Parts: sequence; structure tokens; C-alpha cells
Amino acid sequence: CEQYLDLPITPVDTAFGLMAEYDADPHPSKVSLIAGAYRDENGSPWVLPSVQEAKARLKDDNHEYLGIAGSPAFVNLALLLTFGSKLTTKLNKNIASIQTVSGTGANHMVAVFLARHLRPARVFIPEPTWINHQTIWAQTGVPLEDYPYYEPQSRSVDLDGMLSLLEDKAEANDVVILQACAHNPTGVDLSRSQWAQVMELVLRKKLYVVFDSAYQGFATGDPDTDAWVIRYFTEELLFDSDSECPGLCVAQSFSKNFGLYGERVGAIHLVVPRHLSPQGALSELKTLARAEYSNPPRFGARIVETILANDELKRQWKRDLVTMSSRIKAMRRILCKQLEEQNTPGDWSHIESQIGMFSYTGLSAMMVARLRTQFHIYLLPSGRASICGLNVGNADYVASAIKQVFG
Ligand code: PMP
Repeated sequence: CEQYLDLPITPVDTAFGLMAEYDADPHPSKVSLIAGAYRDENGSPWVLPSVQEAKARLKDDNHEYLGIAGSPAFVNLALLLTFGSKLTTKLNKNIASIQTVSGTGANHMVAVFLARHLRPARVFIPEPTWINHQTIWAQTGVPLEDYPYYEPQSRSVDLDGMLSLLEDKAEANDVVILQACAHNPTGVDLSRSQWAQVMELVLRKKLYVVFDSAYQGFATGDPDTDAWVIRYFTEELLFDSDSECPGLCVAQSFSKNFGLYGERVGAIHLVVPRHLSPQGALSELKTLARAEYSNPPRFGARIVETILANDELKRQWKRDLVTMSSRIKAMRRILCKQLEEQNTPGDWSHIESQIGMFSYTGLSAMMVARLRTQFHIYLLPSGRASICGLNVGNADYVASAIKQVFG
């Protein structure tokens, strides 16, 4: 018993550790490019106008439990947002969906579920990826295998590396984690023709794809365009082939695209092949939820539900997505321009061409450390910068600091 409790201390999560350091830093010009959370042009958290309006309309006094699978209306709207109305109708009885405790909870529940019921020999995770993919899957006991995702020389997706690793090592029923859009941390996504190549391999090798969908709307500003790959795979896997693919699933987060970070809103959508029924899978997901937290949080789901069920609020939400994604794009442009104008060594066009919240800057761990100690600018040691932390008031300062760490 003593031995059981005498555990080694696990290292603090890098991002959360840095955020604590940033909070404690009294320097007036400090800049945080750490967190994957949207900030407005004043560097402040932003409550989306659609969310503000939904809250005003809600006047919700209901603090009762939701059902174990969450709010049926929310789950249905989450489904429509992911698959669109045509495909949702086509999916009909081949889908099991459940509300989850955010995207993290969705990823975790999917991992536990698949480890138990698909029993993959391996799970393939992009290198690099959101750090929690490893933490989550490591708990299941399924052997983890990285697949190369990023090619630093060309600053693009390492498609050849990815395909050849999966070709060599993946076996039927193995799990492949794919980020649907706005890849964290690299900011580079596959093109549609590259996705087609991945699809061909997945289909041929009968792999199980988990789409992690945490940034729908952040890549292009349009949630339908950003869900393209999920819809494409679903169509191909289930309708346009006689493949024996075991299915696919989506771990959906509403944290970023509704700015509901603290409310923990998410969903799982489990697409089963046409010859199978999802009813057993749905009941198993509910059993997992029952054992873990019994009922998902109500308030955030009510906000999302209120917005997506109302045409006017949904239109406002789409405008909010454009506000966020276009501010990020504008900041990319400004930082890139300033780095170029200051003759900072190297090519900085990737800052502008990368997609979503993050930029893989290419700065070394040493440069990142200097930015922090000398200039009070915080980003991850990998060189990942959250572009949301930039604004017209600090982009200049950040650009000149980057120039100086090259000196
Ligand atoms: N997946 C990815 C790729 C992410 O970047 C994140 C958040 N950083 C999540 C899932 C989970 O987000 P949340 O739990 O806040 O919904």
C-alpha cells in the first residue's frame, strides 16, 4: 500500500507550466503565445456575440441532470454540424452519438471504447500532435506508434513519411488519429488530393480512423468547408466502396469554435459499417459515461443548442467564426511582414501560409528560451506560437525580439 502511494511526481504539462510562469511574470510588455484560446485585438478573452445573445435568451433556471448521453437536441445539432444535413440523413441508423465532456473527454472515451472493443494492435499518432493524444492513449495500454506528420525543411506535411510508415506497420483494425483541420501544433493541413491518398491506404488496409475535430471553423472560417475531410471519408468508407473498414469516429470539441473553453462541451460520433447496428456501441458509450461522470454538463450544451437551432443566431455565430479566423490571418500577415521588413534571417512566409490558431515558427528551443528570459515572450519549446496572442499593440515588439534572438 505504501509503495502504491509513493508515486514519482510526473512533470507539469509544459503548456500549463509556462502559463503559470507567464501569470507570475510582472513585466509590462510580456506576451503570451502559449494557449490555444482566442484573444481579441486587446489581448483579452472574447465572448462571442452569438454566445452572449444565446445566454441572454436562455434565462435558464434548469439545473437538473441531463441524461447520460446528454441533450438529444444538442447531440443532433452536433451531428448536423459535423456531417451536414445530406450525409446525416444518409447515415440514418449507422451512427451512435453521445455528448461528452469536451474534446478531451471525447478523445478519452473513444480511446477507452476502442481499446476494449476494437482491440487494435497499435494506435498511430501524428508526430507532432496535441500532447494529450499520447497521454490519453498511453492510459489504454494500446501500443503507441508515431507517424511522421511534419517535414521541417519544406515546412509542409510529410505525406511520404506518413504513408510509408502506415504502409509498413499498420494492420487491419489499427487506429489512426487524424486531425480534421487546423492541425495543432504545426498549422499545416493535408490538401484534398493528399487526403485522397490517405483514404486509399486506410480503405485498403482496413484501418480505423479517429478524427479529432477541435477547430471546425478556424481553418477557413466556414464550418462546412472545415468538415470536408470527415464527410469525404465517411462517404467513401461507408457508401462508395465494398470495403471491410471497421468504421470511423469523430471526437468533436466546441471549446474553440464557440469560445466555450470552460464549459466543456463536446460529442462523439461513432460511424458503424452498414451491416452493423450501432445500438450496442451506443449502450457501451453510455456505460462508460455513467461510470466516469454520469451526466455531461448542461449549460454549455444549452448555449450551443440555442445557437445552432436558430437561423439568426447561427448566422451570427458564422460571422463570429469569420471575425476570429480573419483576425488570426491578419496577425499572421502583420508578423510575417514585420519580420521581413526587419530583415530577420530566413524565409518567414510560413507564418502567413500556415492554418488555424497555431504557427510552427521554426524557432529553436534555445531561441524560445531567450525570447522568454530576455523579452518576456512565451511560446512552447517546440516553437509553436499561438497567433491569437498577437495584436497590433505587440506584433512589432515580438518581431523585433525574434530578430534579436537571431543575433
Ligand atoms: N484536440 C486538439 C487537437 C486540441 O488542440 C484540443 C485543445 N487544445 C482538444 C482536442 C481538446 O479541447 P477541449 O478539451 O478543450 O475541448
